Amino acid sequence: MPVSRRTLLRTGAAVAAGSVAATTPGAPAVAARADIGVSAYAFPLTAVRLLTGSPFAENQARTHAYISFLDIDRMLHMFRVNVGLSSAATPCGGWESPTTELRGHSTGHWLSALAQAYASTGDASFRTKGDAIVTVLAQCQARAGTAGFNTGYLSAFPESFIDRVEARQSVWAPYYTLHKIMAGLLDMHLLAGNAQALTVLTGMAAWSRFRNDRLTLTQRQNMLDTEFGGMNEVLTNLYQVTGDPNHLAAAQHFDHAEIFDPLAAGTDALNNYHANTQVPKAIGAIREYHATGTTRYRTIASNFWTIVTRDHTYVIGGNSNGEYFKAPRRIASELSDTTAECCNSYNMLKLTRQLFFTDPTRVDYLDYYERTLYNHILASQNPSSTHGFQCYYVPLRAGGIKTYSNDYNSFVCCHGTGMESNTKYGESIYFHNGGNTLYVNLFIPSVLTWPGRGITVRQDTTYPSAASTRFTITGSGQIDLRIRIPSWATGAQVAVNGAAQTVAAGAFAVLNRTWTSGDVVDVSLPMAVRRESTPDSATTQAVLVGPVVLAGAYGTTNLSALPTLNPATIAPTTTPLEYTTGSVRLLPFYRMHGQRYTVYWTVGSTPPLPAFVAHYLFNETGGTTAADATGNGRTATLAGGALFSGGTVDLNGGYVSLPSGILAGATAFSITTWVRIDTLTTWSRIFDFGTGTSAYLFLTPRSSAGTARFAITTSGSGAEQRIDAPAALPTGAWTHVAVTSTGTLGVLYVNGVEVARNTALTNRPANTTATWIGRSQYAGDPYLDGAVDGFRVYSRALTATEVTTIHGEGR
Ligand SMILES: [Zn+2]
Repeated sequence: MPVSRRTLLRTGAAVAAGSVAATTPGAPAVAARADIGVSAYAFPLTAVRLLTGSPFAENQARTHAYISFLDIDRMLHMFRVNVGLSSAATPCGGWESPTTELRGHSTGHWLSALAQAYASTGDASFRTKGDAIVTVLAQCQARAGTAGFNTGYLSAFPESFIDRVEARQSVWAPYYTLHKIMAGLLDMHLLAGNAQALTVLTGMAAWSRFRNDRLTLTQRQNMLDTEFGGMNEVLTNLYQVTGDPNHLAAAQHFDHAEIFDPLAAGTDALNNYHANTQVPKAIGAIREYHATGTTRYRTIASNFWTIVTRDHTYVIGGNSNGEYFKAPRRIASELSDTTAECCNSYNMLKLTRQLFFTDPTRVDYLDYYERTLYNHILASQNPSSTHGFQCYYVPLRAGGIKTYSNDYNSFVCCHGTGMESNTKYGESIYFHNGGNTLYVNLFIPSVLTWPGRGITVRQDTTYPSAASTRFTITGSGQIDLRIRIPSWATGAQVAVNGAAQTVAAGAFAVLNRTWTSGDVVDVSLPMAVRRESTPDSATTQAVLVGPVVLAGAYGTTNLSALPTLNPATIAPTTTPLEYTTGSVRLLPFYRMHGQRYTVYWTVGSTPPLPAFVAHYLFNETGGTTAADATGNGRTATLAGGALFSGGTVDLNGGYVSLPSGILAGATAFSITTWVRIDTLTTWSRIFDFGTGTSAYLFLTPRSSAGTARFAITTSGSGAEQRIDAPAALPTGAWTHVAVTSTGTLGVLYVNGVEVARNTALTNRPANTTATWIGRSQYAGDPYLDGAVDGFRVYSRALTATEVTTIHGEGR
């Protein structure tokens, strides 16, 4: 949470490496070391103010009330008891009770929240409260020796917990708890200018180095099997503040090889690992990259992000079932009351913004950020509690209902990260590049006062209730203004003082000009209702409109199975973002509280396929997710190195994976695509939809007979029905190919012209599990060397005229 903000502050009075800037009370601190490998930066929280009225501002206000309400003596009771100081306070309950091994963690979250609330509002009462907590923590740390602990130790539990984790004896997660306290101290230093917090923190860091230097590498690595939060992150962040190499060394004690090694190799080994134990390790890795420039750390972090968001993430942006990662692409099969722990998304958003700083061309990072912010973070606070109580899990089974924390008898982990999430909504709305480039990432009503520029940007909107937002500039100067156009926002429009600009979905709208006071930018982001299927079940789907996941409202009615949704019945109401399907209301998931709901639906157990099943434009600029332009939600995934390249997919040794069963049940079909073959190899595949080597349909640019071939079978290669072209497909040029099938007729077209047909082609598509572009069901066949574009799938046979027309439209 903290350090990315600090990277911005360095532009002020940079201090020499190895020294720590003197701080004045309440003034943000200055960092010693600039981040390496970043080309975008956050603005400090002090530069962004939320405007009232948005759900974010309302959530923030509730959390502000709570962190002001919490009693210092109760929260610090066990810290005092732990070092023999008297305390008459009533002990807390829940995970802060005197016998809970995680006690003390909430105080760390609370410190971070107070520091963020102060920076976000300027309200000194938050800082005053944080300062008072730091004072007590310093008193407790000073008594470490008296209490029989090593110098620098500070916790609400005895240091023997560390002995136990080192000895691999049963203990919950002592370093996890210390990390929260350390992060809270660092935030009080960086955001509230508390110098004592830095002193206490450096004492803890020295203690950590001392404890872990005594261990062998093997002992340390074994110890890291126990959850340790973001120890590598906070110590790296401290290193960036102090420049003291001891702090980097202390951070690297927490580099967990068992997790890092497969990630560095791009391998998904996450199955059956505790999910939120791993996310902070990846955040630590990207911070270690930014501190050292060692690219292996960046690879670990970016591979983790890709693997988790692509293969382990629910539609709301969250991950984990029962707190654990499951096998890749198991989503529909992992719906329960304990899905989507909130801490995981708090941490994934921290990771996402660090990765964006590393590569600010990646709109997909911000698309994920927005999806998770609205549908998990915003959705997990109870709006009817004045203290902003929080979900722990967010149930995603049909009939699930959200449950919440309370004032003093819960203190679950997600209650703590909830305090943090709801006090930093200003942190990712706007970024800059250190020069004149201003990124607008999120559409949250707010005012940015650009430090040192004399320019303010005011954003007025009721988005997502309204599909638009407006920016008003005050001040003047050249700004390369870049506004994120979400990947779903087909038809988006941007106007500067009424003059339309050229924009595209899934990219930044670039408005590079000299601005003057009163200039206005209007952004329109049309929101169509669309569906997304799960990777493991094409018929298990969620409904979205714009960035918002819609859930079915079921009141007190529990459900034993996913309800069936007929998409044709979805109708808007007079309330923005609210729809009906039959007798069921669809509400934004972030407004779904106090009643049972479903997020996922069965869309036709034998789904009536739409005539136009899927259409992949491949216009994305990054990431591995290819949108389905039909709106049917049949999202495809790039795998094995395939990448978006200039509005196409360069297969690059990899392939594209389409949803399972994409043509299951079809009695007729057409598949058309543009393809550019760079190297012609026998038996490579333009596409191959199958269940293995017994049932499949494919198009190869050259069979062993030397010509292009379409084949379809339901019982192995000996039973293939084929359409053999007169020649192989050409190389080095974009070529349009189409296969159509209806009744007993199959036709193969090249560049809009029929080249071959089979009048006895009766096989029909299977319920495929391996549905690929560029890859064969046969493991020995080569992958296609080339690129594809404009891939279309229909559940009917296109006419020859239609094929000619599609070809004529070009790529
Ligand atoms: Zn949690």
